Amino acid sequence: SERTFILVKPDGVARGLVGAVLDRAERKGLSLKALELLSVPEEVAAEHYAEHRDRPFYGELLGFITSGPVVAAVLEGPRAVTAFRQLAGATDPVEKAASGTIRGDFALETQANLVHGSDSAESAQREIALWFPDLSTT
Ligand code: ATP
Repeated sequence: SERTFILVKPDGVARGLVGAVLDRAERKGLSLKALELLSVPEEVAAEHYAEHRDRPFYGELLGFITSGPVVAAVLEGPRAVTAFRQLAGATDPVEKAASGTIRGDFALETQANLVHGSDSAESAQREIALWFPDLSTT
């Protein structure tokens, strides 16, 4: 079994889609190990998106992710990282995300694309340590 880190981004919280996202994840069979509604501290946002530091949209992305409360969660299950990425759909919700996915069904913008999910087991470990430092790894 594996753990992944997910976010319902500010657009998803503002639009009342937290339940829809968690519902899809839970119905898929992933279980919640941690769950929190929070305003993202600037340093956490910067660290979370550090790999995008040199991209042209980095500043805007930090502004977006700190623009309102998010829901952060840790999900566990077999191949949880890939399972949630499949549920989320591709980054571009219009041209790339398939219908039936969270982004494909509910989003129109590449930045405000509702959810984040760790892209590898290594990223998941790093992100869980960043967002839920008190969560035990056992
Ligand atoms: P996430 O890491 O949030 O799960 P992802 O892995 O699908 O998303 P990345 O390429 O890692 O996509 O980009 C991280 C986030 O940055 C995207 O989810 C989106 O919110 C934002 N983003 C990506 N590309 C663009 C872009 N071209 N313009 C604006 N925002 C973007």
